[in-house]
Amino acid sequence: MTQSLLTSEKLTNFIGGEWLETSDTAAVTNPANGETVVRVPLSDHTAIDKAAAAAKKAQKKWALTPAPQRAEVLFTAGQMMKDRKERLARLLTLENGKVLEEARGEVQEGIDMAFYMAGEGRRLFGHTTPAELPNKFSMSERFPVGVVGIITPWNFPIAIATWKSFPAIVSGNAVIWKPATETPIMAAELASILEEAGLPKGVLNVVYGRGSAVGDALVHHADLQVISFTGSGDTGRQIASECGKQLKKVSLEMGGKNAITVMDDADLDLAAESIVWSAYGTSGQRCTAASRVIVHEDVKEKLEERLLQEIDKLSIGDGLEEANQVGPIINQAGMDKITRYMQIGKDEGAKLLAGGYALDEGKYAEGLYFAPTLFTDCTADMRISQEEIFGPVVSLIPVASFDEAINVNNGVPYGLSSSIFTTDANRVFQAQRDLDTGIVYVNAGTTGAEIHLPFGGTKGTGNGHRDSGVQALDVFTEWKAVYIDFSGKLQRAQIDTE
Ligand code: NAP
Repeated sequence: MTQSLLTSEKLTNFIGGEWLETSDTAAVTNPANGETVVRVPLSDHTAIDKAAAAAKKAQKKWALTPAPQRAEVLFTAGQMMKDRKERLARLLTLENGKVLEEARGEVQEGIDMAFYMAGEGRRLFGHTTPAELPNKFSMSERFPVGVVGIITPWNFPIAIATWKSFPAIVSGNAVIWKPATETPIMAAELASILEEAGLPKGVLNVVYGRGSAVGDALVHHADLQVISFTGSGDTGRQIASECGKQLKKVSLEMGGKNAITVMDDADLDLAAESIVWSAYGTSGQRCTAASRVIVHEDVKEKLEERLLQEIDKLSIGDGLEEANQVGPIINQAGMDKITRYMQIGKDEGAKLLAGGYALDEGKYAEGLYFAPTLFTDCTADMRISQEEIFGPVVSLIPVASFDEAINVNNGVPYGLSSSIFTTDANRVFQAQRDLDTGIVYVNAGTTGAEIHLPFGGTKGTGNGHRDSGVQALDVFTEWKAVYIDFSGKLQRAQIDTE
């Protein structure tokens, strides 16, 4: 039934307001059952050239459109996304595999972002500030940067795109979006919503194709002023290095190795429930997924017991069936990577308490499923405690004190999100200060960001920029300082101040 929501068997690029076919395409498969869902264009750099020309032309006019009018398009788009929420969620599950409840949550995130950024159209605040000379007025203002390229991953095919494109659009930029080849449907849906909402031709362009072809062309294109990327560390570093050569602004959101700390005074039932949700939701394929549990040794056994009980209750299967809580892994490469880490964990001496294998029989035979996996007695330096596995795999690390827990949490190359379960108010504030991630949760798991707060991480997770929140506007705007002297005479800053 969900498959029939698709109006075409083949997607097309959206450039300059036209839906343009390409000759080369690839099949997109549903990871829940291996069936072909749709065909996605495999464009080359000529499509990026075309999109850049259209975007450059459209952006000049869009930048002169008053921001509250730009915002109205986003408001209408948000309303349309709300009306189409169920359709979008079902298509999202079809292409990505995440269970329907989570797909609805992801679409809601996009709706929230539309309304939030529509509100920014009446703010986009700059600052006024006193001048150091008499009869002089000083202020700073935001200006659009021009044409921006956004490159998004498959694991949040609509939410991440809205975190990037909506602040860019409301700020007066034009966008060229390269979605992940694995999950192209959300891009087609969002582009047609924005088209119907009245976004002028060329302000949003969608170009499908492999990262190595289309993504690379976007990064190299001289007419783009910004690249906003979410994906793996390897790709991010490559993009950053190219952007560095061109002095192109680049915003990177990359991997994580997020930990939940459970102290000896924690509510263990709440902690166990939250760990299972954060670790195995989306089959662990979230950048904020909890892949480490740091537990005080005094409550280790009790927590393990509770975790095993919770894992036992999980129902795994096709995300389109409402009862399922954990869906498939995105592709065979993901399955292979997770499987490799099972052997790595065992070789390192970790003890396997649950899972550790692919589910490939009976109702799982046609899809890509992996059993929720729990390793215990891990040390902080094991590879399974340090490297991003991006699957339903948790490494449980016992510690003897609060200070050790903080050190273990911080002792990884990533810094996206972290969480602590404790009922001690002093530890809450110490943890909030000392956990070195961009997002910190107290008595909640590592997932669940809200769109009006900054999203992003420290160290190997990013390069200091943030998605969502008002901070996202900094990626897509330039600051201009303006001085208006109404003294009628020459006044020299720093000289005529006496
Ligand atoms: P990926 O392989 O780096 O791909 C991400 C995007 O980059 C895709 O659209 C991909 O295109 C494109 N790409 C690949 N090579 C490129 C190149 N040379 N130049 C330009 N673009 C290129 O990452 P992924 O495996 O899809 O995504 C999972 C990763 O994303 C994980 O590490 C996860 O932690 C991270 N993530 C981070 C956040 C965050 O906010 N911190 C959020 C979500 C996910 P194709 O795939 O179409 O070839």
